[in-house]
Order: sequence, then C-alpha cells, then structure tokens
Amino acid sequence: MTYQKTALITGIAGQDGVYLAEFLLGKGYAVHGLVRWDSYSDPEEGLGRLARAGLLDGRVTLHTGDLTDCMAVAALLKVVRPQEIYNLAALSQVHVSFATPASTFDINTKGVLGLLEALRLLDMQGDVRVYQASSSEMFGSAPAPQNEETPFEPCSPYGTAKLASYWLARTYRDSYGIHVSNGILFNHESPVRGEDFVTRKITRAVTAIEAGGRDVLRLGNLDSIRDWGHARDYVEGMWLMLQQKAPGDYVLATGQAHTVREFVSCAFDLCGVQVSWRGCGAEEVGLDARSGRLLVQVDPALFRPKDVHYLLGDASKARAALGWAPRYYFKDLVADMVAADRALLSVEAPGQQDERGRVLWMKAG
Ligand code: NAP
Repeated sequence: MTYQKTALITGIAGQDGVYLAEFLLGKGYAVHGLVRWDSYSDPEEGLGRLARAGLLDGRVTLHTGDLTDCMAVAALLKVVRPQEIYNLAALSQVHVSFATPASTFDINTKGVLGLLEALRLLDMQGDVRVYQASSSEMFGSAPAPQNEETPFEPCSPYGTAKLASYWLARTYRDSYGIHVSNGILFNHESPVRGEDFVTRKITRAVTAIEAGGRDVLRLGNLDSIRDWGHARDYVEGMWLMLQQKAPGDYVLATGQAHTVREFVSCAFDLCGVQVSWRGCGAEEVGLDARSGRLLVQVDPALFRPKDVHYLLGDASKARAALGWAPRYYFKDLVADMVAADRALLSVEAPGQQDERGRVLWMKAG
C-alpha cells in the first residue's frame, strides 16, 4: 500500500492556495485547507477560486478558522496531523498594509508565531515540514538584482511584517529544529490574481475596453519595475523546498523585470491595440496609436506612501539546489491572464455561462 502524505494549506482560498491544492492533489496528497469563517458568508467571493477550479467537490477538506487564533490553529494541527504545512494565509496587498498596519502584523507576523509555537508546544517539530510565504517586498529598496544574500530594506508594513516572520521561521528552525523553509517569492500572478493587484486590474480593464464595456484604465506609478512570474510555476517551487532533506531559504523569480507601463502595453498588444505613451509623471497618458483615443491615465491617488521601485530576483540558488525553473515568462503570463479575462467576460455575459458553471482557466496551459 502506498503511503499518502497529508498537507495543510493556510490561505487555501487565495491565488497560490488554489494552484497549490491542485498541484498537491495531482501528487496524491490528502489536502486540508484553512479558510476564514467569513469566506462562507459570501461563498461566491470567499470560495470563488476553489469553486471555479472544481475543488469544492470533496477532494479538499476545508476547516474554518483564522491564523490569528493560535488555539484554533493548535487544535487544527492536532486533528489534521499534517506532514507538510504551507503557510500562505496573509494580508497580501501591500497598499492595504499602509491602511491597516496593526492587523497586517497580527496576521502576517503574530499568526506565523502562533503556528510555529503551536508546533513546538504540541511536540510536532520533528514530524512536520513548513513552508513560510516570505516575499520579495522584504528587499524593498535594496539594489537589484536581489538574492538570498541581499540585505533587506522593506518599505511597507507588509514587507516589514513578512521580514519579522522570516526571522521567526529562521529562529524556530535554528532553536527548535523545525524543518521550516522561507520561500522569498517575487511577484507571481495568474488568471485568478485578486482584482486589486495591478496586473489583474490591467488585464480586467484591457479586456473590458476591448469588449466595449469600459473607457479608461487608471493606474498609479507606471515606472515600478517588477519581476513577474506565474503562480503555477511558483507553487511547484514551494513543494520542492519541502522535499529537501534540510530546510533553507530560497528566492523564486524569473530573473526578468518589466515596468507596469510595459505590462499595460503588452496586454493591449495582445488585443491588437498599440499604445502610444505621452507626457510624464502624473501627466502621462496612454493613447491608442491608431485612433488617438485615451486608454490609460495616471491617478496620483493610487501612488503608495512609499513605493518599491525595482524588484528583480536572482533565483540561482533555487535553480541549482531545487532544480526549479519557471516555464512562464513575462509575455506567456500576460497572454494567459488576457486570454482568461476574455473568456471570463464571455462567461459573465448573460446566456453564455457554460452549463457546469466552470471557467476553464485552471485546465489551460
Ligand atoms: P491571496 O490571494 O491574497 O491569498 C491569501 C489568503 O490568505 C486569502 O485566501 C485570505 O483569505 C487568507 N487569509 C488572510 N488572512 C487570514 C487569516 N487571518 N486566517 C486565515 N486565512 C487568512 O495571496 P496569494 O497571492 O495567494 O499569496 C499567498 C502568500 O504568498 C501570501 O502570504 C502572500 O503574502 C505571499 N506572497 C505572494 C506573492 C505574490 O506575488 N502572489 C509574492 C510573495 C509572497 P481572505 O480572502 O478571507 O482574506
């Protein structure tokens, strides 16, 4: 009889949680997930990604709870007894962390502490491997390219809270021997990226403009440079980290960087529209090069109190030690997101919903 491993994913209803759950099910794992109770009050919103991926069919066992409730987390660990824990639950929007710094720390730092402390108090430290979702935002204004040796200079409550939990993970690893690895992941996106993240905001707006349902896309800093990969690739990297004999810290990135402006141009290009950029700073606009129609406008209200300008990852360590490499690069990623948002628009249109109510993004690619 083959031995079935059990994995617990906190934040399973988020972007990475859904891709990771699919990936682990494909590897034969029993998959459990932690979901906040209010996800059930509006399941369309809270559990929408899981539903659209067909994961509410009983293959995944969902548990109601909250990462900040350390007693509930301890009780869950006792029941599930996972061999692998993927701690993805977080307040993940950098701009929101400026508005809610205290709750950002409650979830992104104290939540991690509670999880690690529960493992120690339950004497489970020898039985489990933990993935901690660290972030390139911890590098903040450190010079690019950034790798595991780059000194951290976070520029937001989000980056600072993630850095504190990065150090907690290392402390519990060194002090108590917990097999916990930090994945320092650069931005990774997908067709199910939250719509308040800039990439998805762009692909949603561009496809809506193409379909005639919207006029102008308003954005903040067009000069921000990011290293964007695909969530599908990055969840595999998370899993690879937990298959190593020894825990460690790994950067996952594509090693290619693009501006927000380039993301917009690429998305429009895929819809057959060439954008011509005029002006600079808050006055910059993007026009349809053929018709002169206004497509993109800068909105200073969307600037962050302090922005991270240039994130570019060097994933050499993960390539060498894990054998990890991305399959999707910039243009493949934008194409996947644009194609899925086009499909979503047609599914959303009245009378065109497929009879099983499923969006096909999860099976593509
Ligand atoms: P996401 O889509 O925002 O998913 C985060 C999930 O965590 C959501 O389902 C959220 O549920 C849940 N959550 C929030 N607070 C919670 C709490 N107190 N208890 C239990 N669940 C809670 O983010 P993602 O893109 O999948 O990212 C996964 C992880 O990787 C996050 O920790 C993120 O910070 C980190 N990360 C992401 C990236 C990236 O580019 N995607 C890069 C580096 C690191 P609700 O819907 O109820 O809020």
